[in-house]
Amino acid sequence: MVHTVAVDPGSGPKVGGWAADNWFVDRCAHCGAVLAAGAGWCGQCFVPIGGAAGAPAASAAAAAPATTPFAPTGAQPRELLTRSTRWAKTPTTFGPAGRVLCTVGVLVPLLVMIVGGFVDMFAWGGAAVYGAVIVPWAMRDIWKAGQVRVG
Ligand SMILES: [Zn+2]
Repeated sequence: MVHTVAVDPGSGPKVGGWAADNWFVDRCAHCGAVLAAGAGWCGQCFVPIGGAAGAPAASAAAAAPATTPFAPTGAQPRELLTRSTRWAKTPTTFGPAGRVLCTVGVLVPLLVMIVGGFVDMFAWGGAAVYGAVIVPWAMRDIWKAGQVRVG
C-alpha cells in the first residue's frame, strides 16, 4: 500500500492581505482612525476607546474627597459614674436573689457531705476539701463586687 500525501500547491501559508480586514472592529468612533488592538486611546484624536477606560477611575478619585469621614455618634466615650456593689444586679454579676440562690446551691452539697459524714466518715474528707477549696472559690465569684452605674 502506498501512502500518498495530497499537497495542494495553493494551501500554503497566506501572507499579508486579508489579515488587515480584522482591524475594522478597532476603529476610532470619533475620527475613524485604525487603532492598535487593546489601545485605550485613539492615536490620532486621543479620544478614550469606548469612553470607559479612564473614566471610572477619574470619577472615583473625584468622588472620594466629597465623602465625609464616618463619625459614629453613639461610640464617643462617656463619663460613667459607677460604684461597686455586692448586692445590686450588674451586667456582670447576679442580683441579691441570684447570689443567695448560688450560695445555697454551693452550700447544699457541703451540708449533704457533712450530714453524710455521720454515716460514712469519708464524706467528711470530701466536705473538708469542698469547704476549703470549692466554697471560697465559688463565694468569691458569686459575691464579687460589680460596677453599677450611678446617676
Ligand atoms: Zn480618533
